[in-house]
Amino acid sequence: MVENAPFLTCQHAGLTVEGYSRAAVQSYWRIPELKIGFDLGAQPWDFMGTPTWLLTHTHLDHVAALPVYVARRRMMRMEPPVLYLPAESVEDVRRLLLIMQRLDRGRMICDLRGVTPGQEIELSRDHVITAFATTHTIPSLGYLVWERRFKLKEEFQGLAGEQIRDLRLSGTAVTREVRTPLLAYTGDTSPAGLDAYPPVFEAKILITEMSFIRPNHRREKIHKFGHMHLDDFIERADKFKNELIICAHFSTRYHAQEVRRYVEPKLPEGLRERVKLWL
Ligand SMILES: [Zn+2]
Ligand SMILES: [Zn+2]
Repeated sequence: MVENAPFLTCQHAGLTVEGYSRAAVQSYWRIPELKIGFDLGAQPWDFMGTPTWLLTHTHLDHVAALPVYVARRRMMRMEPPVLYLPAESVEDVRRLLLIMQRLDRGRMICDLRGVTPGQEIELSRDHVITAFATTHTIPSLGYLVWERRFKLKEEFQGLAGEQIRDLRLSGTAVTREVRTPLLAYTGDTSPAGLDAYPPVFEAKILITEMSFIRPNHRREKIHKFGHMHLDDFIERADKFKNELIICAHFSTRYHAQEVRRYVEPKLPEGLRERVKLWL
């Protein structure tokens, strides 16, 4: 294995979260069990096998490795990847890939799919993704993965297996879909992005950004630039129903130790135990 880009790992609710994220440096995440990744600010060699990526926006710290990833997949004779990204950015990314194709002299084969807020992406029978609008300085999206189960409708419970089968064969919808919000990834956003899409507060795992922590940073300015501050989390302590809240994308002006020492005592009890500072 080639260790070209660092990442941390943690497990929760049957999922593995692997990733790295520092503001203006690089952000990339993947969930091996779901066979998806989020953002391509860089690409650990080992992440190349993940065939589907969802990009939140086209700031360089989130997309710089896009051509690298597409080229590696082809070089290693893997299937062309599927890349979801904000619809507004598709044509420019296509052009970027064509230019890289000329410079690198290797074909850039991938399936670019533009996404708009509210759009659903079918991942598998068990998982479906909803894209939601986030609030950043350029077109941006977050993604929420739902677990979906098909449950027998109440009125058919108690029927024998054959009766249910006959109903199904006669064209009756015997099941109803039940969705559970499993994992949300916001990418870069001001708190308005979270507030406008309440399921992010319900997802078992929330991966989000806490770019700024110190009180000397003016919050209106941080929000204007489409980011979040520690105080935004403290203010919303009661809204977060998530089992695990991964906070990442810290500004490079902070050292890891400084973030831990400063943030942990400030988080109210009840929230603190569920927050994982991704450092
Ligand atoms: Zn960023
Ligand atoms: Zn950004």
